[in-house]
Amino acid sequence: MYYNQDSIFFIDGNWAKASETNIDVFNQTFHYGIGAFEGIRAYHTATGMSLFKATEHYKRLLNSVKTLHLKIDYTAAELVEITHQLLKKNNLRNAYVRPLVFMGPNMELTIKGKPRLLIAAWEWGALLGKGQLNLAISSYQRPDRKSLPNTAKLTGNYTNSILASYEVRKRGADEALMLDVDGNIAQAPGANFFLEKDGVLYTPEEGHILPGITRNTMFAYAKELGFEIREQAIPVTMLHDADSAFLTGTATEIVGVKSIEGIVMKKDWADSMGAVLAGVYQHRIKREESQGLTIV
Ligand code: PMP
Repeated sequence: MYYNQDSIFFIDGNWAKASETNIDVFNQTFHYGIGAFEGIRAYHTATGMSLFKATEHYKRLLNSVKTLHLKIDYTAAELVEITHQLLKKNNLRNAYVRPLVFMGPNMELTIKGKPRLLIAAWEWGALLGKGQLNLAISSYQRPDRKSLPNTAKLTGNYTNSILASYEVRKRGADEALMLDVDGNIAQAPGANFFLEKDGVLYTPEEGHILPGITRNTMFAYAKELGFEIREQAIPVTMLHDADSAFLTGTATEIVGVKSIEGIVMKKDWADSMGAVLAGVYQHRIKREESQGLTIV
């Protein structure tokens, strides 16, 4: 599903077939979840292939690696260039790119040795689909920053996300909404949250969320459109008179919310501020803000 016998990975500075990739079963990431990753989308455009916000994603990867007291020997610009080559080698047009920094064999609870770097890519549709979502609040909360560096994209943090999604899907919801340690809304397991009320957009401030690159992109588009976004704590009670809501993320893109815990959003998605932002996003991912690569 993610690769076939012809797929090429970038691993430890070399190009290798997926089947030739040597991963030690005693690698520390496998056992203890110490590692960092990114998710980047490539879009096929009228002028060729383009990678959306690739530099921002690789800068975040380098920062995530730093929070683990580790280092890889690449700059963000070099990683963008390698990713262009990866897409070319795999002949991919619309693709999701997964860089993963992981550890070698080590069964101790120590940080040592040089991390390894894998970059793979595959074709992947919108993670949560294109329709509007019914969300439910999970009993799993986002980890406090004193427990885990929650502004970094670390492999181990995703057990928390997976459990939250699993829990609410069992109850029939499409996706989870997770609270922070103070009981305010934080985000979805793999996407950020926005709420519209009386012509203003609200999104949780940094602290308990992964500050998403798509979330940042919303700030830029909102400024252009004259939309106000307030970063503040969002208590659960605010859901009761929300006009609309949406999730943002690289894999998710921008997806509208139909209901949260059975509370139906007052506005139709098509009439919401989120739908306007989603329209701009769909236009821009294929335009000037992408870092272009032309494939002949
Ligand atoms: N939160 C989490 C936990 C995520 O995994 C993601 C996806 N990277 C996001 C938010 C959205 O971030 P971005 O817009 O950078 O993809």
